[in-house]
Amino acid sequence: MALLTPTTRWMMINMTDIVFATRNAGKMREIKGCFQGTKYRILSLDDIGVNIEVVEDGATFEANAAKKAREICRAAGLLTLADDSGLEIDWLAGEPGVDSANFLGADTPYAVRCAKILDMLADAPNHKRGARFVCVIAIARPGCDDIITVRGMLEGEIARTITGGGGFGYDPIFYVPECGKTTAQLDVAEKNRISHRGQALKLAMEALDKL
Ligand code: IMP
Repeated sequence: MALLTPTTRWMMINMTDIVFATRNAGKMREIKGCFQGTKYRILSLDDIGVNIEVVEDGATFEANAAKKAREICRAAGLLTLADDSGLEIDWLAGEPGVDSANFLGADTPYAVRCAKILDMLADAPNHKRGARFVCVIAIARPGCDDIITVRGMLEGEIARTITGGGGFGYDPIFYVPECGKTTAQLDVAEKNRISHRGQALKLAMEALDKL
């Protein structure tokens, strides 16, 4: 077995385990990328064998993230982070918003959902195609009722066509003018640098460091 350097040994002893309450592989990839090289070790629900589904019936991203974090923290007995995220489209008065995961039905492929959104915005001129990704992360601690929430947002526009093969969900129709690309054309590191989730994770990490 390779010898551990003193730094690696120190890191392993002082790692803080955190459960991230999601089953979305795309999100998990981005989250693990953000926490790489920090003192936090991210565990998935599968890693800890917790198999409960939390119903996201809140009216806001904050309410859903807090509910998820609280319930998973109770079941896991570990520091828990949960996020709720979605896409708000100005032309659709903020829809699908908190219902982004269920827009057209949870089992409908995202290619179909993205195509439907392009269709719904067919008459929207360029200056009215504003949209944003929102991500709220809630932090729940065992034995503590207080939930901390932080919010990150990424402003962009709904593209005219489906573009790019990376990312997940609505990425192929979310165009970021500053990058000249959709978020499906960014690699994980690039997306984390600017994304709603990357920003919320940065704020969450700052909050964790203060606990
Ligand atoms: P949640 O799992 O309830 O937070 O659902 C989030 C919804 O918003 C899902 O439909 C995701 O596909 C979509 N969504 C959230 N963040 C992103 C993103 O970074 N890219 C694409 N879609 C996203």
